[in-house]
Amino acid sequence: MATDHEIEAIAQVRTLLTKVGLRTTAARLAVVRRLQGAKSPLSHAEVAENLVPLGFDKATIFRNLTDLVDAGLVSRTELGDHVWRFELKNPNHPDGHHPHFVCVDCGSVTCIHDGDIPKSSQKSWSKVGRVTEILLKGHCLTCVPQ
Ligand SMILES: [Zn+2]
Ligand SMILES: [Zn+2]
Repeated sequence: MATDHEIEAIAQVRTLLTKVGLRTTAARLAVVRRLQGAKSPLSHAEVAENLVPLGFDKATIFRNLTDLVDAGLVSRTELGDHVWRFELKNPNHPDGHHPHFVCVDCGSVTCIHDGDIPKSSQKSWSKVGRVTEILLKGHCLTCVPQ
């Protein structure tokens, strides 16, 4: 049985998908819900890990991720390890970039949402090119506790 909270969440996803002209299929819904529940960008393999046991196949999951990227709901990032990672865009800041922190030891990825990028930095970057990804690397607190 779905709880009221889930019913409401599903209705929101449906509205989101309808707005960009996508039909709400079971697989698409499951993919969006999985991304909503994630605190960091997920690879196709990570999404599949959760959804294959529910009866969705990997190819369907991948196609849906790609559809969501094409529709502008999901951003796709590559953080230096040749793995595409997917995350839902913030509907309030669809073009807003946030930095990602990648642990060089375990490979975990963390979103850094707080702290805006200073306009002065953006200005100097624009002289170099168009920045599409901001990547920080280091040792996460699990690998090297402070
Ligand atoms: Zn780590
Ligand atoms: Zn992120």
